[in-house]
Amino acid sequence: MSKYCFGIDLGGTTVKCALFLTDGTLEEKWEIKTHTENNGERILPDIAKTILDKIKEKNISMEEVMGIGIGVPGPVRENGELPCAVNLHWGRKNIEEELLELTGIPVKAGNDANVAALGEMWKGGGQGSRNMIMVTLGTGVGGGIIINEKILTGAHGAGGELGHACVNAEETVACNCGNKGCLEQYASATGIARLAKQALESSTEESLLRKKETVTAKDVFDAYKEQDALAKDIVEEFSEYLGKALAVFACVADPEIIVLGGGVSKAGQALLDCVEKKFQKYAFSSCKETGFALATLGNDAGVYGAAKLVLSK
Ligand code: ZN
Repeated sequence: MSKYCFGIDLGGTTVKCALFLTDGTLEEKWEIKTHTENNGERILPDIAKTILDKIKEKNISMEEVMGIGIGVPGPVRENGELPCAVNLHWGRKNIEEELLELTGIPVKAGNDANVAALGEMWKGGGQGSRNMIMVTLGTGVGGGIIINEKILTGAHGAGGELGHACVNAEETVACNCGNKGCLEQYASATGIARLAKQALESSTEESLLRKKETVTAKDVFDAYKEQDALAKDIVEEFSEYLGKALAVFACVADPEIIVLGGGVSKAGQALLDCVEKKFQKYAFSSCKETGFALATLGNDAGVYGAAKLVLSK
């Protein structure tokens, strides 16, 4: 009888690990370092070792372990194959097969942003919903689309790559992906800082933001909450891009709820309000009831989602 499963969130610097009971209770969590040298050859053996050590430490029998779920920073196909993961110095490999071989435990892998979205649906901001879009507004813009409690992986493992939807055909600066005008260029923390820089340079208007040497996304929202006019313009521009894009995504996936996460979401209710307002402006009539919520699991979303990969298999 299965009683346990593992949720692993593999990042470029640390591996977050968690032992779950199959009822969804997080029993214990810990971290190990990600060793990326020599093309990341130690990464999977290190993960296998920490899992097997935990099983031994807790006196768990192998029959009691239902599986290992793992989120990785790269596109993962339905069959567990990863074409590449730049941050881990990995080329093409099948993580599910390799980790199964090392541990003797069934493995289910997913892209980290998608897996975090699954975690938020299960135990976080999207709890209670079965259809959800999550957008992570961090250094970049990531995302995940959950349909009937399942991650939408797509044909190339690129399902949910919301940050690279083109939202501005006039853009002259290139995104990290090589294209121009990606959502990420306006809605990420970096993107908001860039909008702020442009706004400050193109006007002489007084603003709290002029007191800062370099303006961050947090500075913009802090000034916005202080009713700063220039910050209001920047937030308006950001929300227009994001709200309009979300209205388009809603026509495709028709979610019950849209969850906003990542560093920018620390702006809280103010962020939800302005993005939802723009969403309403552009949303198709049947999608207007879509709810908005903030992500609540923070850095734990990945391990929760990874465990859910196994539990909902
Ligand atoms: Zn891009």
